[in-house]
Amino acid sequence: MLKKVNIFTGEAVKEIYEKGLITQGGKTLKSDFTVVAIGITPNVEIANKSGIKVDGRGIMVNEYLETEVEGIYAAGDVANIFDPIEEKRRIEHWNNAEYTGRLAARNMLGVKEKYNFLSTVWSDVFDLHIEAAGETLDYDDYVLRAESFFALTEIFLYLFISTFID
Ligand SMILES: Cc1cc2nc3c(=O)[nH]c(=O)nc-3n(C[C@H](O)[C@H](O)[C@H](O)COP(=O)(O)OP(=O)(O)OC[C@H]3O[C@@H](n4cnc5c(N)ncnc54)[C@H](O)[C@@H]3O)c2cc1C
Repeated sequence: MLKKVNIFTGEAVKEIYEKGLITQGGKTLKSDFTVVAIGITPNVEIANKSGIKVDGRGIMVNEYLETEVEGIYAAGDVANIFDPIEEKRRIEHWNNAEYTGRLAARNMLGVKEKYNFLSTVWSDVFDLHIEAAGETLDYDDYVLRAESFFALTEIFLYLFISTFID
């Protein structure tokens, strides 16, 4: 069964008190406990101090994951990778970190292999399993799948109802 989950977009926590929280938009929500998960910031301090090119989104690397300083590579979340389609792209998914770590190592050994990877991510929101591939900010298509007709109906009903509640 799907649990009742409300998602408030464009909101932030303003105040946390003993029995709940107040959002920037003025909503008061009751809670037993509050988990704040507000993303990460790449640690580029060491690169900045070394004169390696950094922009707001990470350490700049070319398609071989090499920085502007020859022989210095960056991989994983911190790397802002040259991508022929997106031009620059920083990805926060573990399979990209694993792939780029290996690719950087190979290129350090002289292989000269270009970044060529479609990162994917999954998440479970209670019983709802979500998978995404590639760039999700401006997606081309999405697919809804369910193990049974009943479950699919339940998802549609949930999505329909949740657009009218709150
Ligand atoms: C709460 C949360 C949930 C996530 N869930 C998912 C998920 O469901 N699926 C998914 O695909 N991805 C998920 N991610 C993202 C995933 O964890 C990251 O993409 C992945 O861990 C990145 O690996 P990394 O090696 O690049 O960086 P990290 O795992 O962050 O490792 C970087 C390491 O470098 C160390 N470090 C930093 N600066 C220095 C320095 N100057 N000197 C020495 N060491 C330094 C840090 O301490 C750290 O140990 C999640 C991330 C978070 C925070």
